[in-house]
Amino acid sequence: MCGIIGILGRGDVAPYLVDGLGRLEYRGYDSAGMAVMEDGAIAVLRTVGTVERLAAMYRGSPVSGAAGLAHTRWATHGGVSDRNAHPHVSCGGEAAVIHNGIIENHAELREELSSKGHAFKSETDTEVAVHLLEEALAAGKGPLEAGMDVARRLRGQYALVFLMRGHPDVILAMRKNAPLLVGLGKGESIVASDALAFIDRTNRVVFLEDDTLALVARDGVRVYGFLGQERPVVVTDLAQELTLPDKHDHEHFTIKEIREQPEAVERVVSQVPGSMTIFRRELEKAKRVFFVAAGTSYHAALLAKRYFSDHMKLYGEVILASEYRGSEQWFDDGAVVVCISQSGETMDVLEAARSAKGRGATVLSMVNRSPSSLEMLSDAVVKLNVGPEVGVAATKSFTAQVVLFYALARGGASEEEVAELKGAMEAALAQEQEIIGVAELVAKGRDVYFLGRGVSYPMALEGALKMKELAYLHAEGLAAGELKHGPLALVDSGTPLVLLNPEDETYAETMSNGAEVKSRGGMVIGFSTAPSPTYDRFVRIPPVRAEFYPVVEAVPLQLLAYHVARLLDKSIDKPRNLAKSVTVK
Ligand code: GLU
Repeated sequence: MCGIIGILGRGDVAPYLVDGLGRLEYRGYDSAGMAVMEDGAIAVLRTVGTVERLAAMYRGSPVSGAAGLAHTRWATHGGVSDRNAHPHVSCGGEAAVIHNGIIENHAELREELSSKGHAFKSETDTEVAVHLLEEALAAGKGPLEAGMDVARRLRGQYALVFLMRGHPDVILAMRKNAPLLVGLGKGESIVASDALAFIDRTNRVVFLEDDTLALVARDGVRVYGFLGQERPVVVTDLAQELTLPDKHDHEHFTIKEIREQPEAVERVVSQVPGSMTIFRRELEKAKRVFFVAAGTSYHAALLAKRYFSDHMKLYGEVILASEYRGSEQWFDDGAVVVCISQSGETMDVLEAARSAKGRGATVLSMVNRSPSSLEMLSDAVVKLNVGPEVGVAATKSFTAQVVLFYALARGGASEEEVAELKGAMEAALAQEQEIIGVAELVAKGRDVYFLGRGVSYPMALEGALKMKELAYLHAEGLAAGELKHGPLALVDSGTPLVLLNPEDETYAETMSNGAEVKSRGGMVIGFSTAPSPTYDRFVRIPPVRAEFYPVVEAVPLQLLAYHVARLLDKSIDKPRNLAKSVTVK
């Protein structure tokens, strides 16, 4: 989840490290740190907090050198503290390491290394890697052999990058189930977890495969398998739209991305028809279909199941990626596993995809960021193409996923359909002022419930998730019919409840659920195409064909969560404890 960057350059690389790290901050950000090779020694700066804090520290006591590493941490092992921030340095300062992932056998390695006299300075799983490297270097091994030694000992998942005092002209990098790539610039090379870190310097990229290590030099990179066999190096030109995101006039990336949605959904259906055809062909042949996703993408998968059932007469099972093991026995050669991940790097989704591939299933994927690990292991991929989504809470990628699934299930979407959807989303956005009024009420409470039936049920889940992520309020999304089976006991005088109630076949039943809440003193906030005396507050959902309700409902739900968060003064683009690209278990 963290951001990794390492540079071997000509002049002083420190300012560039700070800059590149800022662009990776979306990946995780409870601490930040950097190390540079300064006058034959490794100088380290680390701090809890943001990259801006690290930048201030750097301005206060600059370090400089032609090789360096930097890291934003999203803690998995060891509390959030200065000493647990990366880079970690070996006992005698021979090497420094940054790490993304989890080293599963860290406890036994720590014990072994401690008994050999290594002094640990942090509580992280990561630190064992630098002591292992130190052992190998002390035994006289060069960077390649030393790196192989480390890889042999580690279990778990990692992208690791090392700086070595005795080898100032090389950076050692290795990867196992965590993103890592190398950018080849003019007289400089950069290794990073995302090309965004260096896209302003070079678009020539080498994607490292899993179970490989790389010796990065200023004039290129050599790649080896963990057993030492050299691999061919393939350089890709990233000619595509990896532009640096800009908020323009918007207060946050999140609101910018919410407002971009009408254009984004239009763009998404103008996909290359070829990739859609392959998808549909594979699905038509399938004996069994699974949709695998996590978080917001899981809610899109629930809608996908419905669309494929209605339009292709295809029954699919939706699986939470982290729970795939209960179903993997069915991932056989008759199965199609549709994996959904905005980043294409979600660890839980990747694991399920690998399991599916290993068992002979066809893996189809839907991603936004490209290239990505998920895409590389899939048989076919469709891309959202909605541009970078910087806000940690997914917004435009969600509506794009839903619309793309609709188009896939239907074999395309007509211009008329797209225009209708776009118009309705624009009309939904135009109600921001009314939604701010509702947000003021919700922000006063501690809990909020979201109720929906049919296609609005996944939206109730999504509305609640946005509220948790952005506003840190306790929120629950419920199938409207489930209310009476338990949750109604939670309703008290003034409890806010968002009733997603479009005028479709679910209208009357859902209205009754609203009435049940109102009779018990709850505050019913109707999100509907028509007002009703049952609603204490009303947010109009612009009329649209029934299948698009969820996409249009998403807009006021996102705006509500955004404005509650804003009123409560939360960190909107980077909610506490969360990261955009969830690359650990
Ligand atoms: N497991 C490491 C730690 O807790 C790395 C976490 C990350 O990927 O940021 O420090």
